[in-house]
Amino acid sequence: MKLNQEQFNLIKDKIKHLKHFEGNLYFNKFSNVDLDKLISQEDFEALPFTNKEELRDCYPLGIAAVPEEDIVRIHSSSGTTGTPVIIPYTKKDIEDWAIMFKRCYEMAGVTKLDRIHITPGYGLWTAGIGFQTGAELLGSMVIPMGPGNTDKQINMMMDMKSTVLCSTSSYALLLAEEIEKRGVRNKIHLKKGLIGSERWGEKMRKRIANELGVTLYDIYGLTEIYGPGVGMSCEYECGMHYWDDYVYFEIIDPKTGKVLPDGEIGELVITTLRKEGAPLIRYRTRDLTRIIPGECQCKNPFPRIDTLIGRSDDMVKVKGVNIYPGQIEDVLKEIDGISSEYQVIIDHLQGKDIITLYFETSLSTDRNLLESEVRNKFRSKIGLTIVSRAVSIGELPRSEKKTTRVFDNRY
Ligand code: ZN
Repeated sequence: MKLNQEQFNLIKDKIKHLKHFEGNLYFNKFSNVDLDKLISQEDFEALPFTNKEELRDCYPLGIAAVPEEDIVRIHSSSGTTGTPVIIPYTKKDIEDWAIMFKRCYEMAGVTKLDRIHITPGYGLWTAGIGFQTGAELLGSMVIPMGPGNTDKQINMMMDMKSTVLCSTSSYALLLAEEIEKRGVRNKIHLKKGLIGSERWGEKMRKRIANELGVTLYDIYGLTEIYGPGVGMSCEYECGMHYWDDYVYFEIIDPKTGKVLPDGEIGELVITTLRKEGAPLIRYRTRDLTRIIPGECQCKNPFPRIDTLIGRSDDMVKVKGVNIYPGQIEDVLKEIDGISSEYQVIIDHLQGKDIITLYFETSLSTDRNLLESEVRNKFRSKIGLTIVSRAVSIGELPRSEKKTTRVFDNRY
């Protein structure tokens, strides 16, 4: 999708500002960028990418592109791997984020009369507060739970008659299972689930939808780019619309960095158009997806990206074959008796790469049969021989945050 004139003008204005804002990440990075020669789409696509390591390197506030008096809040992406990334927000950034999030709720048909049960974390994480400010702008009643304490979650959900659940997919699944276990499904009033986007398969989606009795919507976003709320699926469940008056999306080949045509799968690269506190130009998200060409059946004019296929970091190469979580889910969903949960472990033993796939099944008999079916399907669809292991439902970990499913122990 090419830049339109308005997007191009916004980006040029932003780069002009960044080139003169001393101390900012882009002050040096763009010192050689000649604005008078930034005219065409090709010129824009020649600008360097920004990656997460660069954001880490300017910890804590080297991303800031406004004077300190204009910064009203910071958020931070999870620092599980080394130095965290700090993202400063101006008052307008917070307002813009809420406007985008309000659009997400509206796309899901959420109204002022809904009661919104928010389970993602608060604090440095962007999720909880993002869901909250958007809901408040819309005028709905917010139930700001945060994560954990399943008993309290379910009690509050019954007493407050929560109608919308905001959650990660794995936590929604855990809640669905606990509600089922307690036999209180008829006391739950949920109608809709807004699920923070991570790669999650059809199977998991169906289970959550059925067990909670809700319609599910995917919400997209990441801390570096406001937080959740920059994109949202519609009732037709065909990818996620994104707000291209605030963000510009490109899809690139993660290996070569070349921009790919609409429709092709690659890594999503985002440029913020209006962000003040921490503008980002051509930021590599590591999310694998594609731009869906054409108009959506819902007639909403905002463009779409497809459901995430995985992370470009999760794409592992084994015996010369690229595997990503989406493919594994596609194999598993074709086989009856298998739940949506799985884990893949890759080891290097005696000079060979060994892939072990653990999956959950409710069947206590015929596990050997199921294991060989998974092994055969994997070989015919992906072209690799694996060790296949069936475990009981509930044995694989569920997490309140994003679940890691592929563990590469080779290095
Ligand atoms: Zn649509």
